[in-house]
Amino acid sequence: MNENNNKIICPDCKSEIKKTGKMEVGDILECSECGTEVEILSLKPLKYGELVEEK
Ligand SMILES: [Zn+2]
Repeated sequence: MNENNNKIICPDCKSEIKKTGKMEVGDILECSECGTEVEILSLKPLKYGELVEEK
């Protein structure tokens, strides 16, 4: 059984963003390669999007 379909791929540089521990909707993950922030929108199915900060 392989449930490893929950990879988060950075929308900017396509690196996999590793998340340790539990992931929750609303979590903000930061790409270790380019610093892009990705927000978890949904867990099942996994959906996420680049977080755009308006300043
Ligand atoms: Zn990245």
